[in-house]
Amino acid sequence: MDDRLFKTAMGKFATGVTVITTEVDGEVHGMTANAFMSVSIDPKLVLISIADKARMLDLIKQSGTFAVNILTEEQQEMSMIFAGQIKENRDIEFERFEGMPIIEDSLVSLACNVYDTHVAGDHTLFVGEVQNLQLQDSDPLAIYQGKYKQIRDKATSEV
Ligand code: FAD
Ligand code: NAD
Repeated sequence: MDDRLFKTAMGKFATGVTVITTEVDGEVHGMTANAFMSVSIDPKLVLISIADKARMLDLIKQSGTFAVNILTEEQQEMSMIFAGQIKENRDIEFERFEGMPIIEDSLVSLACNVYDTHVAGDHTLFVGEVQNLQLQDSDPLAIYQGKYKQIRDKATSEV
């Protein structure tokens, strides 16, 4: 099967957008990811999928921790920065939460310890145990067919 056909099909699954953050030797690294899901309530587990070629892969293996920052519609620029879609270097201020760097003003930030790891084809799946989370009342950033979208309740946006 053609790669493009597969990506086009997967792009039909509308998702939110996250930035995964981790820290090794005092250096913070971020990476945009939409391969994220909730896995278990007891214990509280989530899943992310990181490409073999991503710098993030070795960094999470080293740190054993990561944060998942679910972005708001105001944070499209953050998604673009941490996906390399904006090329110039930006000085990002990270907030600290549970000893981990997180993206300020995210819709949700989940501080996770690596609970389990599975190699799956050209990606590695990290199951994270959620140590703590913080959330705020805002609207999410979404992605559909490779394009950023806003999700708003029609009734709300018409007010
Ligand atoms: P790099 O490519 O080196 O870094 C990513 C970018 O973040 C660079 O521009 C870098 O300058 C910037 N950056 C990192 N840390 C900092 C910092 N401390 N301060 C300032 N800037 C910093 N890939 C996956 O493997 N899994 C996914 O689920 C996934 N989902 C995606 C969803 C979307 C919507 C998009 C657009 C991309 C997705 N990608 C995913 C692709 C992934 O985001 C890119 O391939 C990314 O460039 C890989 O990052 P990297 O760890 O290799 O690091
Ligand atoms: P796109 O058309 O490249 O991707 C559409 C969908 O296909 C994605 O949402 C994802 O579900 C899937 N996909 C894309 N590349 C993949 C990969 N290498 N491995 C597994 N699934 C993949 O448009 P986009 O969403 O704007 O992506 C922009 C860039 O980010 C592309 O270079 C894409 O390859 C990369 N990306 C990678 C992943 C991933 O590694 N899991 C996920 C999303 C996007």
